[in-house]
Amino acid sequence: MDRIEINSLTFEELKEFMLKLGEKSYRGEQVFTYLHRSKCIDIDELHLLPKDLRENLKVISKVRKMDIYKKYISKIDNTVKYLFLLEDMNIIETVVMEYKHGYSICISTQVGCKMGCSFCASTKEGLIRNLTPAEMVNQIYLAEKDLNINISNIVLMGSGEPLDNFENTLRFIDIISHPKGHNISLRNITLSTCGLVPRIYDLAEENLPITLSISLHSPFDDERKKIMPIGRRYSIDELIEACKFYVNKTNRRITFEYTLIENVNDRDIDVKELGKILKGLKCHINLIPLNPISEYNEDRPSRKNIERVQKELMKFNISVTIRREMGGDISASCGQLRRSVTQKNK
Ligand code: SAH
Repeated sequence: MDRIEINSLTFEELKEFMLKLGEKSYRGEQVFTYLHRSKCIDIDELHLLPKDLRENLKVISKVRKMDIYKKYISKIDNTVKYLFLLEDMNIIETVVMEYKHGYSICISTQVGCKMGCSFCASTKEGLIRNLTPAEMVNQIYLAEKDLNINISNIVLMGSGEPLDNFENTLRFIDIISHPKGHNISLRNITLSTCGLVPRIYDLAEENLPITLSISLHSPFDDERKKIMPIGRRYSIDELIEACKFYVNKTNRRITFEYTLIENVNDRDIDVKELGKILKGLKCHINLIPLNPISEYNEDRPSRKNIERVQKELMKFNISVTIRREMGGDISASCGQLRRSVTQKNK
């Protein structure tokens, strides 16, 4: 029988788990706090527990672990990129950025990705597997321990499509924000999706005050389908409809990510149409200059053109920012670092 991964259980699930073992539910609370506040990684470290309970736990459960495989530190802005080695030898990528208001981490939710966006390095070898909640929290705990910092912001924008790993992502959010554990504010968590429409409705029903971020990248179905295969499954109309539902339900402002690709989605007609479809929606646009990858033969617009797009969009009364680039010298936003290693190992 597979042992239960106890650091993937939510607070409530851990209490249930203990009750089923014939223990008091407060034992579940203790274990949760050990795992997610003290960041213990070994059942033997759970000193408050009686020895026979610890021994029993070791037989039926385990703490999912991972290790730092490589670490890169930017000389420009101290951004740190980690490659983590999972128990099954897969590798994932995580980035820690320092801002004025604290530390922010960009975590992966899957090994690889099956969404197939043409400009994205994470998807080039398809989906290998989903990450478990423990593997998501571990990215945060290992980085915090290694850098001796406290992370206050989390973005689910690393490799993978979080809404394609829906249950585990929700569990992760529950665990990392729980007051008896790490206690990160839900408002400081951003979930980024390429637009799995039914899952956006499901997420809205959860009514969490997290920030939902939608990768839009084109206001035209024909063009979007070319760069994002998910556009063949759900039209932009359907996607925007789901976004409106989300905003109404949660009263949270939505972010739209828009990766700027020269002559593909930065033309006047793109900007006008984008402004038109988002006008009046409680939203924010984040312009991301394309990070060119070898498998995608397009470039980013010039700085001047990026700023022009921003200015034009602002005329629609939408707030628009240009993503600041961090860690430019340590290669590799968007899964490029992991890919450079997996390619070499072949
Ligand atoms: N699967 C999720 C989250 C991961 S990608 C999603 O699609 O939103 C995070 C963001 O980076 C997305 O907006 C994605 O489209 C963008 N991105 C991926 N590769 C990129 C590249 N090479 N240049 C610029 N942005 C990229």
